[in-house]
Amino acid sequence: MLNELEKIKKEFLDSIETIKDSKTLEELRVKFLGRKSGLTSVLRSLGTLIQEERVLVGQKANVLRKDIEARLEEIKHNLGQKTGKEVSIDHTLPGLPLSLGKEHPITKTIREIVDIFSPLGFQVATGPEIETDYYNFEALNFPPEHPARDEQDSFQLLGGKYLLRTQTSPVQIRVMEKTKPPVRIISPGVCYRRDNPDASHSPMFHQVEGLAVDTDIHFTDLKGVLSEFIHQMFGKEIKMRFVPSFFPFTEPSAEVAISCIICGGKGCSTCGRTGWLEVLGAGMVHPNVFKKVHYDPKKYTGFAFGMGVERIAMLKYGVGDIRLFYQNNLQFLRQF
Ligand SMILES: [Zn+2]
Repeated sequence: MLNELEKIKKEFLDSIETIKDSKTLEELRVKFLGRKSGLTSVLRSLGTLIQEERVLVGQKANVLRKDIEARLEEIKHNLGQKTGKEVSIDHTLPGLPLSLGKEHPITKTIREIVDIFSPLGFQVATGPEIETDYYNFEALNFPPEHPARDEQDSFQLLGGKYLLRTQTSPVQIRVMEKTKPPVRIISPGVCYRRDNPDASHSPMFHQVEGLAVDTDIHFTDLKGVLSEFIHQMFGKEIKMRFVPSFFPFTEPSAEVAISCIICGGKGCSTCGRTGWLEVLGAGMVHPNVFKKVHYDPKKYTGFAFGMGVERIAMLKYGVGDIRLFYQNNLQFLRQF
C-alpha cells in the first residue's frame, strides 16, 4: 500500500508538467482525486488492513491528497494570473496596510522655527532659488569684487546672468521692494554653495532668514527675539552670547552662540572645548540696504538674522553628519 502511494505521488509530480490550461488541470484533478483514482481506492481498501497498517497508510494517503489538492490549487492560481481569468478574489478580505509617512527632519525643524517666530508677528515669505547677482549680492551691500563674496562660492547659470542663491537674504530685498514698513518676515528655503560635501558641508542646504523693520527697532529687540527663539528651541537653561562679526548687509553684526547643549558649557568635542556653539548670524540692517529699497535710513531701523536649518537640527537632535539628511535612509529618518 505504501509503495502504491509512492507510485501515485511520483506519477502526479511527473504529469503536472503537462498542465497547460484549465481543461488539462481538471483532467488531472479527476485522475488523481476522482472516484476512480488510485488514491481513492487506497483509501477505500483501508478497512481490509490491520489496525497499525490502517493508521499509517491512512495518514500517508490523507497527507498525499492534501498535497495534490494544494499543488493543483497553486497551478490553478498561476494559470489564472497568466490568462487574466479565473482569479477568484475575496472582496471581503482586509486590504494591505498603508504605512503613513513622516515629516523629514529638515521640514520638521523649519516648522518648529516658524512656530516660534509666528506668534512674535513674523510672517513667512519666500523667493526664487534662481537669483540675479543684484538680489543675491549687490542689493545686500556686497559690491562687485567684494572679498565677502569669496565666502559664498556660487553656482552660476547662463554665463553668470543668474545664480543659485547662496543665502535666503535676497528675500529681504524682494519683500522690502514691495512693502512699506513695518516689515516682519522669516523666509525659510534652500540655498546652494560650491562646497564639497563632508560631515558639516553640503552644496545644498536650508536657511531661515529673519527681518524686522520699523521706526523704532533697536539692538535690544534683536536680542530679545533671538533669546526667545533659543530658549524655546533648545531649552530655558541655555545661555546665549553675541560675538562681534562682519556681514555686508548688517552693521553692527554678530555671531550668536549658545552654551553647548552637549556638555552644558564645560567643553567637549562638539563645541571644540570652548563650551559655546555658533548657531546664527545677526545684526542691524545696514543703511545701504535700506537705500537700495528706497527706505529712509534716517527714519527706519531694523534687524536681520539668518541660521542654517541643518545646523539647528544637528544640534537639537544630535546628528553628527549633515549628509545623513539627504540619503533617504528610512532607518535614519524614522527616528524623528
Ligand atoms: Zn560642549
